[in-house]
Amino acid sequence: MKKNIKISVASGKGGTGKTLVSVSLALSINNVQFIDCDVEEPNAHIFLKPEIEIEKSVGIPVPEIDKNKCSLCGECGKICEYHAIVNLKRDVLVFYELCHGCGGCSIVCPEKAIKEKEREIGILRKGKFNGDNEFIDGILNPGEPLSPPLIRNLKKEIKNDKTVIIDCPPGTSCPVVESIKGTDFCILITEPTPFGLNDLTLAVEVLKKLKIPYGVIINKCDSKYNEVEKFCKKENIGILMKIPYKRDIGVAYSKGKSLIEASPQYKKEFQDLLNRIVKIV
Ligand code: SF4
Ligand code: SF4
Repeated sequence: MKKNIKISVASGKGGTGKTLVSVSLALSINNVQFIDCDVEEPNAHIFLKPEIEIEKSVGIPVPEIDKNKCSLCGECGKICEYHAIVNLKRDVLVFYELCHGCGGCSIVCPEKAIKEKEREIGILRKGKFNGDNEFIDGILNPGEPLSPPLIRNLKKEIKNDKTVIIDCPPGTSCPVVESIKGTDFCILITEPTPFGLNDLTLAVEVLKKLKIPYGVIINKCDSKYNEVEKFCKKENIGILMKIPYKRDIGVAYSKGKSLIEASPQYKKEFQDLLNRIVKIV
């Protein structure tokens, strides 16, 4: 049985309680490394209150063209899949926001006219919370369209001697896939509404493609809409936990308090949850 595992916490849509669950799990167990990969809107720090010790810039290599050497051959524009380089009759233009930093253009340039320079896309922060547990998050620069390179940088920090909890961005697009990739288990958070069911269905498709084991937590659970449970039963998906729809949980969350602070009895439930996940993995 694997002792330290990597768990991603994801949801097909925002506002379902993904961070509520990931921080509550992190506060219930020991020897944790928590990574907030929701780099466009990181908010786990509000609940975990880490002491930030390191802050560093994260960038990607983008081309810098020496116009004195450039022969306007057009090869760089041809290789760029992202249309970040446009070759004009008398000039070469680089659109840095579109550049993915793949380095292809500098390799093909016959005149060695392309050098690479670093373009900052965000920052990575590292610190400690709840004793010696490790906290990492990333903050994408405003207006920056490329979050996967920043997420990859956060995940380079993963330690194998800790239980890793990754709070993923919401949705089912590339940043989510980047965050879930390589984890041992994914907890999908949903809510019992038609929207919740729709987005859960999409998230399940992503997990099937990634071939990563997963289970579902239903947040804001009441007895009015049971289609989510029917779907899980039909698809043979394990329901790991149900968190009731309670005003005091919402009020505590809005004040920056985790579920563990609002209702300490959940600590045991989250410890049991980890044990069950370890057994599944
Ligand atoms: S580094 Fe890659 S993505 Fe960026 S401009 Fe060059 S070929 Fe395009
Ligand atoms: S490949 Fe090099 S020489 Fe050719 S257009 Fe691009 S920068 Fe200029």
